[in-house]
Amino acid sequence: MEYKLILKAIGLEAERAKVKAWAVGGFARDRFIGKTTKDIDICVEGDTHSLIDFCVKKYGAEAKCFKAFGTARVNLACGLKLDFVRCRAELYPKPAALPKVRPSGLKDDLMRRDFTCNALALSIMPGEFLKEYDLFNSREAISKGYIEVLHDKSFVDDPTRLFRAVRFSARFGWPLGKNTERLFREAVREKRASLLSRQRIVNEFVKILREKCSYKALKLADKYGLLDFVFGNLKYGSKIDTLSTFEEKIALLSLMQGERGADFVSSLLLPKEGTALCFEVLKWREAKAAPAKALSAKAVKIIKLYKPAVEPFKLRPLLLKAEDALALGFKGGEIGSALKKLAKAQYRGKIKNKRAAVSFLKNLK
Ligand code: ATP
Ligand code: MG
Repeated sequence: MEYKLILKAIGLEAERAKVKAWAVGGFARDRFIGKTTKDIDICVEGDTHSLIDFCVKKYGAEAKCFKAFGTARVNLACGLKLDFVRCRAELYPKPAALPKVRPSGLKDDLMRRDFTCNALALSIMPGEFLKEYDLFNSREAISKGYIEVLHDKSFVDDPTRLFRAVRFSARFGWPLGKNTERLFREAVREKRASLLSRQRIVNEFVKILREKCSYKALKLADKYGLLDFVFGNLKYGSKIDTLSTFEEKIALLSLMQGERGADFVSSLLLPKEGTALCFEVLKWREAKAAPAKALSAKAVKIIKLYKPAVEPFKLRPLLLKAEDALALGFKGGEIGSALKKLAKAQYRGKIKNKRAAVSFLKNLK
């Protein structure tokens, strides 16, 4: 219950600073369905700085302030992550562009949100602590369970909402509302997602893969033709959800893409560390040879998941090392080429143990 005490204290500070504050978005939605989350979006009518300073001073919190508009992420030692934003109205100068914003009140701030289920606000002010501000039928959307946009231009303004829609729909098992489904199909038909930068599309795809129900979300995106904007003819399967990390999921997906595995991975614009596992499994498959170094446990897990019938000897590291070949009288460049041949033979199941490997090399002499 610590979060309540903290929100109450922030509410008191808001009153002192003569601003108003609400907990909104995912926190309000999840609380309504009986879940508490540690990520809380707090929107403030007025300046956010006094509330951010308060959290830093009172809780020794770490604050990262983002450029414009008094937006900050405040991390508290207890694990709460507070995102402060100033209430704003948004104007999209053209479809899929980043919006122009101006300070505004709660109503405009809720109006700019993606879906009605994410537009509930809970006051944190003294005297009305946790009072619901339901200006857009959020309670109905959450209790009946459906995903509905707030206005008909929503997907045109910001096509990342198409990806968010399938993600929330899969996560909660809530279908798209009738009007929203129509607008969704229209936005796909008009190729609205292709106006987004590659990075923004990839970010949404990554968020889908971070869900427990990625398969369901991908299937839904596929059903509506949205997946083509991520990677044409993407192959995927329900096995991805037996994996818990994003890193493992993309490694499995990279194998599933066959010849296009490496293209798929590069298309995700990930930092090098994030793709090591993908390239480990892809390299193993392309080489069709025993790996010189033992495969990591994660790589073995992914390969077995992809191909349960893989023979165990195909996963074993090379039985001999360069020093073994040297001891057998191989020199310089001969060593590498002899071990390469051994690696292929071992992968094909012709060499089962070290003794057989030694005699294989001797025969190459
Ligand atoms: P999660 O449980 O995945 O964190 P969330 O609803 O909190 O779900 P966030 O991505 O954390 O989603 O965003 C917080 C809130 O900001 C959302 O609830 C929504 O109101 C708003 N929001 C985020 N992205 C958009 C967007 N592209 N368009 C409109 N509103 C958005
Ligand atoms: Mg959130």
